[in-house]
Amino acid sequence: MELTVVGKSPAMPDAGGAQSGYLVADGAFKLLVECGGGVVAKLRQFTDLASIDAVLLSHPHADHAMDLLPLGFALAHGLGLASPARPPLWVPPGAAAVLNDFSRALGMGSQIDDAFTVREYDPNLPLRIGPLTVSFAEVPHYVRAWACDIRADDGGRLTFGADCGPNGALVELSRDTPMLMLEATEGPGPHRGQHVRGHLTAAEAGELAQAAGARTLLLTHYSDLHDPRALLTAARTGFAGRLELAGELQHYRL
Ligand SMILES: [Zn+2]
Ligand SMILES: [Zn+2]
Repeated sequence: MELTVVGKSPAMPDAGGAQSGYLVADGAFKLLVECGGGVVAKLRQFTDLASIDAVLLSHPHADHAMDLLPLGFALAHGLGLASPARPPLWVPPGAAAVLNDFSRALGMGSQIDDAFTVREYDPNLPLRIGPLTVSFAEVPHYVRAWACDIRADDGGRLTFGADCGPNGALVELSRDTPMLMLEATEGPGPHRGQHVRGHLTAAEAGELAQAAGARTLLLTHYSDLHDPRALLTAARTGFAGRLELAGELQHYRL
């Protein structure tokens, strides 16, 4: 299994960056996890859009779903495919209507349904996507969101925390994972203010990864306004394992 970070920006894109997008490959099978703004342009730098076999969303926030429209356009029209394959687009409960409303509101009609076979997953059950098996845990965020534990039959595994505040459900889902990819949208920390928690600081991500027994922590969804060294230092205070910052178009073997 291989991971390519397509985009790691939070809601405000990095200079030259793309929002959430992660390409997980198992052999020839390609699963795109999240499809935020800028992801399609980045994908085209290294892969054929028609080779994407399935798409998975953790939650329907714009910075995770915005580029479904250009991806849908490419699949349904832009690539000149004679009969679009309509790859499955796996979305959380209730998100299919949200995405179709979004498409219609922006003048793109039924493009989401034209380009994808949209299916809502049952987060209480393991989901088989091609050769991969995905398990879910609901995590605290500003809309309902599900962390995803993605496993290949050969033992490869990636756990993705989606967007979330500190929580125990993700610790359980990611128990002993070789690779835990967590957002650090709130920067190095410490957390300030009293608002409802829907994101992690780098320090909290480190603590969560340590509690889970993760071997590697990959920090993502952080802004280029934060000092990378400060992010790593903050995460290191709570985490003893291998620690990395996600970079766009970086590859990881899982
Ligand atoms: Zn979000
Ligand atoms: Zn986000």
